[in-house]
Amino acid sequence: METVVGKTKLCLIQGDITLQDTEAIVNAANTRLLGGGGVDGAIHRAGGPKVLEECKKIRAKQDGCPTGEAVITTGGNLKARYVIHTVGPVWTGGNKGEDSLLRNAYYNSLKIARESGITSLAFPSISTGVYGFPIDRAAAIAISTVKQFIQGHHFKEVRFVLFSPEDLKVYEEALTQS
Ligand code: ADP
Repeated sequence: METVVGKTKLCLIQGDITLQDTEAIVNAANTRLLGGGGVDGAIHRAGGPKVLEECKKIRAKQDGCPTGEAVITTGGNLKARYVIHTVGPVWTGGNKGEDSLLRNAYYNSLKIARESGITSLAFPSISTGVYGFPIDRAAAIAISTVKQFIQGHHFKEVRFVLFSPEDLKVYEEALTQS
């Protein structure tokens, strides 16, 4: 599914985020920034040691990345030139500020992309894997945060890359309803 918001192309596709040709891809990292499972592991495997090296340098300076914040590194061996590492919230029932922390994760990723002069980026579905955020609720937050941001700031393209056809359907529904 594809639409235009402001001057930005907004695309939803099924696929593997490590294979995307956008200038940056976003990683659903953890606060330690040392890699992990899921999409984080896949990005570090595909990006290679340079990505981890830069993550370690950031850790040395600022002790990781708090939930809702974002940092940027090289893309290493990826097609994408940069990886934006953001940390989504762990779902613990919805009363611990999870919605606004997820919103912050998307917002701060877009903000650092813009500050870095990046014109195209791809997001995975942050927090909806191991972190357990209900995907329909997460999709609505993801879509609304991105739409709002790109109305004010122009990117060439923002892409959501969903790993499964089921997840893609949920995001398509959220975009249709937004
Ligand atoms: P979190 O800890 O933020 O929940 P996960 O990595 O566990 O992060 O899951 C986030 C989403 O990323 C899940 O929907 C998962 O299916 C998806 N995912 C895993 N690997 C990839 C990949 N290579 N490309 C795109 N999405 C992926």
